[in-house]
Amino acid sequence: MSNPPQLSGVGPTLAAKLVKLGLHRDADLLLHLPLRYEDETRITPVRDAVPGEAAQFELEVVSTEIAYRPRRQLLCHVHDDSGTLLLRFLNFYPSQQKALQPGACLRAFGEVRGGFFGTEMIHPRFHVLHGEEPLPQALTPIYPTVAGVGQATLRKLIGNALQRVALDDTLPDELRGGLSGFAESIHQLHQPPGAASEMELTCALQPYWQRIRFDELLAQQLSLRRAYAARRTRGAPRLTAINSLTGKLLAALPFKLTRAQQKAWREIAADLAQPYPMQRLLQGDVGSGKTIVAALAMLQAAENGYQAALMAPTEILAEQHYRKLRCWLDPLGIPLAWLSGSLKRKQKNEMATAIASGEARLVVGTHALIEEDVAFAKLGLTIVDEQHRFGVRQRLALKQKAASPHQLTMSATPIPRTLAMSYYADLDVSLLDELPPGRTPVKTKLVTEGKRDQVIARVRDACAQGRQAYWVCPLVEESETLQLKTAEETFAHLTIDMPDLRIGLVHGRLRGEEKAAAMEAFTRGEIQVLVATTVIEVGVDVVNASLMVIEHAERFGLAQLHQLRGRVGRGITDSVCILLYASPLSQTARQRLKVIFETNDGFEIARQDLALRGPGEFIGARQSGMPLLRYADLDDTKMVDRARAAADKMLRDYPDFAERHLQRWMAGREQLLKA
Ligand code: ADP
Ligand code: MG
Repeated sequence: MSNPPQLSGVGPTLAAKLVKLGLHRDADLLLHLPLRYEDETRITPVRDAVPGEAAQFELEVVSTEIAYRPRRQLLCHVHDDSGTLLLRFLNFYPSQQKALQPGACLRAFGEVRGGFFGTEMIHPRFHVLHGEEPLPQALTPIYPTVAGVGQATLRKLIGNALQRVALDDTLPDELRGGLSGFAESIHQLHQPPGAASEMELTCALQPYWQRIRFDELLAQQLSLRRAYAARRTRGAPRLTAINSLTGKLLAALPFKLTRAQQKAWREIAADLAQPYPMQRLLQGDVGSGKTIVAALAMLQAAENGYQAALMAPTEILAEQHYRKLRCWLDPLGIPLAWLSGSLKRKQKNEMATAIASGEARLVVGTHALIEEDVAFAKLGLTIVDEQHRFGVRQRLALKQKAASPHQLTMSATPIPRTLAMSYYADLDVSLLDELPPGRTPVKTKLVTEGKRDQVIARVRDACAQGRQAYWVCPLVEESETLQLKTAEETFAHLTIDMPDLRIGLVHGRLRGEEKAAAMEAFTRGEIQVLVATTVIEVGVDVVNASLMVIEHAERFGLAQLHQLRGRVGRGITDSVCILLYASPLSQTARQRLKVIFETNDGFEIARQDLALRGPGEFIGARQSGMPLLRYADLDDTKMVDRARAAADKMLRDYPDFAERHLQRWMAGREQLLKA
């Protein structure tokens, strides 16, 4: 690809600053739209000034002095035919003082307010008039900027670009449907004609903003559709449903797949059989049974003589998948390989050799799977569990272990509809919207820290009845060392508080086998109370654990609390999640606890999370490097729908328009959307 044209008439220093504003090419300047406007098209008589409203005045200087009380400042008394004003400058240069000679004529812009000495303006923007100076015809745009780039510079650059860059419409007439023209919208938004009031201006510009928002959403949709289409032109191994192994597993399972699992499995089995790579998200609330669906997919790869790899974000979870899959696969005589960072060098090398030779057909592991020295012989399918816990780069690294493998990602964090339609449009989604039968919803209780003794009594009770409990340690985000210390202290205290119970501890700093040993002991019931950090947040599945205590619940995020709580309520006994919190609660902590207390529904929680944090946070934009929308709003479902339909039509009937539209809006950004 050739380099895009640069900004004309801009030196390297300024260019570097403009890049921070996303301004790489002349065409980008056109889409750098004002935040607001100032009206310098009119002169307001001093008498008509409205306090708090910005206006422009034409004034004659009466006198200028420096006052020293209450602090050093420049005071300039001015008047026009209708009244007098005081201009007050707390910081000023001698040159300004000099310019404000008695008799000088000024144009000053700013807000007036009632001061102690009458009506005044503080730090107005002003310039001295030398003879006749016509008023500007258009409002003065105020642009988003960064340090070192003045409004005047931006105005000049953008003004030039408006002269030079073609503003051809990239929307075919057929799709215009009442939207304003592109050129007209751009001109109006950069240089709107004067308006009688702010309200009038907002109304007048509304249709032009509408067009820009539409264009932006359209570009996003086009880009995602193209990525989707491009995927279909890449070849992938056809992993057809032979059903020799999958059929056996289904027959041997102690349960029947839920209707939702059956549907998801059908969708995945069909995708795998296509000659292009699957890119599917299996989305289901905690406990909805995603693992068995993943196991079936892995077997379909194996049936076709291909390898499949399942990657999980933590050692504990990977280990648990390994054990669960072995329960299912061992009876079928299918070997399963295990790869994690905690394996000894020698074992690791042996495993890498088995993977490279293809002898290890199905592999489960942690990040160790994406290490450089791991090479697969014939990888046909990659599965990433709890995909939101991995960065884009890590997900890409797994995919790059083969030329073009099928990909399945799994997540318990539901994506709100508008996000799914935009940022995730390149993804096919299977939904597990039903839990396996026999689950009892978890009861959630909010308890202040002062009542810790009662909570300990409850834990004792549960254990006396043969149940088990998790005790989740406070999150210490700032420092992992502190987090560890807190976990060890919590463990020590609880051991003193409940000397009669068998208590275990897991945290992120334990070595792999130590973690595994503790989890195993808990699974077997040898440990009654498992003190844990958030390492147990994802996926861990111990049916007999029916009580969870989360200390300092106010420090956790909503998604995290929901995930943690999902560790209980996996069996038929009544389950309880106790959220211990310390007062006073911040406003947002209070809101979070309220949400988690009121609902068990992962989708509703995600929706609330989105409302509390905003979509940028939700999709981890910073992490993924995805450009967020600048003008459009994803909540505008109607417009997103319309842009989607238009994108389809444009790609089908007007490919050259689509190309130009993407060039205009997406050049340099499109790559980011593909990860
Ligand atoms: P998640 O979707 O949170 O990853 P898991 O795959 O860990 O859920 O499944 C949770 C538990 O439910 C596991 O013990 C699993 O074996 C069990 N399970 C899965 N599907 C069914 C089903 N259809 N009927 C009964 N139990 C099921
Ligand atoms: Mg899971």
